[in-house]
Amino acid sequence: MTAIIQTKNLTRIYQLDGEDINAVNAVTLDIPREKMTAIVGRSGSGKTTLLNLISGLDVPTNGEIWFDNDRLDTMSEQDKRLLRLNKIGFVFQSFGLLPLLDASENVGVPLRMRYMDQQERNSRVNEALDWVGLTQRVHHRPYELSGGEQQRVAIARALASRPQIIMADEPTGQLDTHTGYTIIALLRRLVNEQNITALIITHDPKVMQEADLVYHMSDGNLVESVWNTSNG
Ligand code: ADP
Ligand code: MG
Repeated sequence: MTAIIQTKNLTRIYQLDGEDINAVNAVTLDIPREKMTAIVGRSGSGKTTLLNLISGLDVPTNGEIWFDNDRLDTMSEQDKRLLRLNKIGFVFQSFGLLPLLDASENVGVPLRMRYMDQQERNSRVNEALDWVGLTQRVHHRPYELSGGEQQRVAIARALASRPQIIMADEPTGQLDTHTGYTIIALLRRLVNEQNITALIITHDPKVMQEADLVYHMSDGNLVESVWNTSNG
């Protein structure tokens, strides 16, 4: 197994009202390449903090993060920004679409940030929206789309950048059960067909079934890791 991300003794302590909160406590783990990994645990167990550390959005108090064989936790802010732009696609619980832009414009935003020319951009946008099954919705704005469709636009936006890894924090948290399943199935297909790594934070049991590897967090600690050999 080759890992795209490795953490070693990763620790993040927050200080709040003079008290230390060990949000992430000495976590050592591997995120395997081209697999679906789920991080599960109750609210407050440190899942989002761990994801923020792994993506370079937050700085650890202690420990190491390796991303694609580069040491991430000591990189400059600029290098981390470029790494995120080029290698990571983000999907959020609340979709994170810009309300005044239609679906195709939303998908194009990260490509504009990379100064991609219009022709290449349009072709990537169309390809990604086609892949998530939204060719009929390209000119709809977020308020003209259902929650599930908005999340598919967000997945297309992540996909259009051709990232190495898609990181999703509670991607089904605002969706009904059935729609949530379709989003998880889409993320599963992404791993199987596009050879992208997926890292999904959730407390949705369906994600745990679909994932290849499940890490359980409790009070900032990594307490269990389970491989699902029947998937993938
Ligand atoms: P989860 O995503 O699993 O719900 P979080 O990573 O958001 O958990 O939070 C882990 C712990 O760290 C919680 O106790 C939370 O209250 C605390 N925490 C998170 N962010 C901050 C912050 N910016 N300042 C202080 N405490 C924080
Ligand atoms: Mg969280």
